[in-house]
Amino acid sequence: MTIQTMEQELIFKSKLPDIYIPKHLPPHSYCFENLSKYGSRPCLINAPTAEIYTYYDVQLTAQKVASGLNKLGIQQGDVIMVLLPNCPEFVFAFLGASFRGAIMTAANPFFTSAEIAKQAKASNTKLLVTQACYYDKVKDLENVKLVFVDSSPEEDNHMHFSELIQADQNEMEEVKVNIKPDDVVALPYSSGTTGLPKGVMLTHKGLVTSIAQQVDGENPNLYYHSEDVILCVLPMFHIYSLNSVLLCGLRAKASILLMPKFDINAFFGLVTKYKVTLAPVVPPIVLAIAKSPELDKYDLSSIRVLKSGGAPLGKELEDTVRAKFPKAKLGQGYGMTEAGPVLTMCLSFAKEPIDVKSGACGTVVRNAEMKIVDPQNDSSLPRNQPGEICIRGDQIMKGYLNNPEATRETIDKEGWLHTGDIGFIDDDDELFIVDRLKELIKYKGFQVAPAELEAIILSHPQISDVAVVPMLDEAAGEVPVAFVVRSNGSIDTTEDDIKKFVSKQVVFYKRINRVFFIDAIPKSPSGKILRKDLRAKLAAGVPN
Ligand code: AMP
Repeated sequence: MTIQTMEQELIFKSKLPDIYIPKHLPPHSYCFENLSKYGSRPCLINAPTAEIYTYYDVQLTAQKVASGLNKLGIQQGDVIMVLLPNCPEFVFAFLGASFRGAIMTAANPFFTSAEIAKQAKASNTKLLVTQACYYDKVKDLENVKLVFVDSSPEEDNHMHFSELIQADQNEMEEVKVNIKPDDVVALPYSSGTTGLPKGVMLTHKGLVTSIAQQVDGENPNLYYHSEDVILCVLPMFHIYSLNSVLLCGLRAKASILLMPKFDINAFFGLVTKYKVTLAPVVPPIVLAIAKSPELDKYDLSSIRVLKSGGAPLGKELEDTVRAKFPKAKLGQGYGMTEAGPVLTMCLSFAKEPIDVKSGACGTVVRNAEMKIVDPQNDSSLPRNQPGEICIRGDQIMKGYLNNPEATRETIDKEGWLHTGDIGFIDDDDELFIVDRLKELIKYKGFQVAPAELEAIILSHPQISDVAVVPMLDEAAGEVPVAFVVRSNGSIDTTEDDIKKFVSKQVVFYKRINRVFFIDAIPKSPSGKILRKDLRAKLAAGVPN
């Protein structure tokens, strides 16, 4: 990584040289380049059914989906929502949308109907692909065509996924689109550094750049090889899995094993059965591996890379698991939805590995720039000094959907995306994340936006003020806890009342873990919640 001094800015770059990136290609073309050379290789393996889809199958089905969407009136730039666990139809729907020039927004199938409706409305979703078991949660969505991947409820206006993929060659050729590199292709939702979840506009160019940064280049397939079997257990509705597992796997021509739900023994069983070589995980899975009494019963020797990301991984845990997999590389990556999402990767995965230190998140990806700034005055800081991590490059988001103000607050005039994470870069170019400036809470890698929970709790008639902050938790990493001020005269409201009030309205991981009643929420003179003070209160010991 070189440091340049440009107008007194200290900018960090990758140790690896920049590469050519075909930014003019949309992801569906880029991932299937030169298909005739490898088309008959296994591309997707659906773990529950053991069904295998070749690269030819996947590309053709995606094209048929594009045609099906076209016939249903889905135009270029329209949004389709995918509400599915990991399964082949998820992949077909995303790639089909990309072929059509449409945009995919994905949501967690465990969301409540209110959470799904909010995202569908904000994104102006026109069509939704889901399973029949979620019918009750989506049946009241207005002006949204429903497509079911399994049995479809017997009602008008609903269709089965098989009807979407019936196109013949002529119909497929009718889909004519002129996709521009800056067109949006994926719309994940993220709260970013503050406030409520917002639509993150990721473009064709952005996604292709991010994938290339991870798998293309002079050191080809740096992290992923064509012989790899990649276990896709992280949900593809999160951009980490969609990009760094699925799309990177496709670009590398690897086989991707789709697992719909995490279970430690099923995880070990699949690694053994399919000789999985690469397993991208999140810290709670690393913890489950470390703690499992079953570990020695399985042959996990095929694993060459265990890659953790999405949330902080403690140094001790990292060392414990490294000792259990002496032949595998274990390292961290650091991502943020708005950053496209990958900012740094661990180079120990490379064919000629570079040693990494436990606790490090790797080094900045190629064709990108990173700087660490003083949050008080934005001046860039030298090595070993913690500050806010900023990233610049073609991979970052175009902006937040319909929210120019939030976009301006996150991406400055010079194109730097401010992450809200605090970290430093050491003498060996490795990034260490030490704190989080932003409000975000991460439960097992899932985002919990304090503002969303605060709005719900404030709607309780007996509550006058509230602040939600993260509390450390061994299994989840962090859990949301609420500091609550009761309205005058409402001393009867209990911790349990508030927990139940919230639980009814949110997905399981946003549930409030503890409620602490206080007299007033600490605020700055401008009225901002002093979250740091509340986090310090928790660090000093759980309040009574
Ligand atoms: P998301 O947008 O859901 O991917 O969440 C992004 C946030 O997760 C980052 O801004 C960090 O706060 C956190 N995060 C992701 N990867 C790591 C990591 N390796 N270490 C520490 N925090 C991480």
